[in-house]
Amino acid sequence: MKEGLVLKAAGTPGREDMEAINRYTRRAYGPEEVYTFSLVLCDNEIDRDFERFSVESLEKLRELFLGKTCIFDHERRSANQTARIYHTELEERRGEATGAGEALVRLIARAYLPRTERNKETIELIESGILKEVSVSCSVKRGICGICGKESCEHKKGEIYGGRTAHTVLTEPVDAYECSFVAVPAQRGAGVVKSAKVEKILSRDMTEEVSLTKSQVREIGERFRALTEKAGWGERYRRELEMGVLKYSAMVQPEMPRAVMESAVKGLSIDELLAMEKTYSGMAERALPLKPQLMPRGGDRKENYNRDFKI
Ligand SMILES: [Zn+2]
Repeated sequence: MKEGLVLKAAGTPGREDMEAINRYTRRAYGPEEVYTFSLVLCDNEIDRDFERFSVESLEKLRELFLGKTCIFDHERRSANQTARIYHTELEERRGEATGAGEALVRLIARAYLPRTERNKETIELIESGILKEVSVSCSVKRGICGICGKESCEHKKGEIYGGRTAHTVLTEPVDAYECSFVAVPAQRGAGVVKSAKVEKILSRDMTEEVSLTKSQVREIGERFRALTEKAGWGERYRRELEMGVLKYSAMVQPEMPRAVMESAVKGLSIDELLAMEKTYSGMAERALPLKPQLMPRGGDRKENYNRDFKI
């Protein structure tokens, strides 16, 4: 992943933390003057763009991110609020494997910001979990194929070859710029989708995971039930139309085997059935005038019915 997240607020920083922090400050700060937190910057898991860092890249990024800033851009007026990364380390997650079959390795950072009046709100937002996701930016020299190791090859990202997903391994990082907190994490985490309309969720191409709130699940369920009911009306209407076509067909072309007509109407669309019923009923009326009750001028009625069923 190239997006990270806050792990936890680190509590009161210890002596080692303060030594590291005070390398970046003009004067020596006391532990009560700074707020620290740790975050995952990135890892070696294949992300949604089908890219991943190699463990060597993470090791290089570990050096590059040291001293870099985390920006809070959730509010314009506090745009210049930043936290600074004062410690980085790689953490191997025992027993957790990546999609590429490696042990999961995460790049963890610790960052601080001074406890000032101005930073109070930001600290509160981190503590409460609202500011949680960060996006990191860095540049790498090369991307190689995760399957064959070449820089250019036939393997297409995201496709499966012999059970392995093709992806790009990002290697040789040359610079790490910063990480920035995203107030509204992109499509992940519960807070986001709450405001999204169900239509938007349903129309989204499902290349990413989405999470739904209870009320959205309920809304989708209600719509599904309503549509199922309307679909039932539609099927009944279709059967009526088919029966009409079969009836008139038997009148105007009695030599046509019913089984042939039955299988023919099955393949017709509603519009085709309507056109066919109209044509056949016209032909039937010319051939043998029908009593009104046999053929009510029901076209209009049926069209209204049809409109109800269209959604
Ligand atoms: Zn390849």
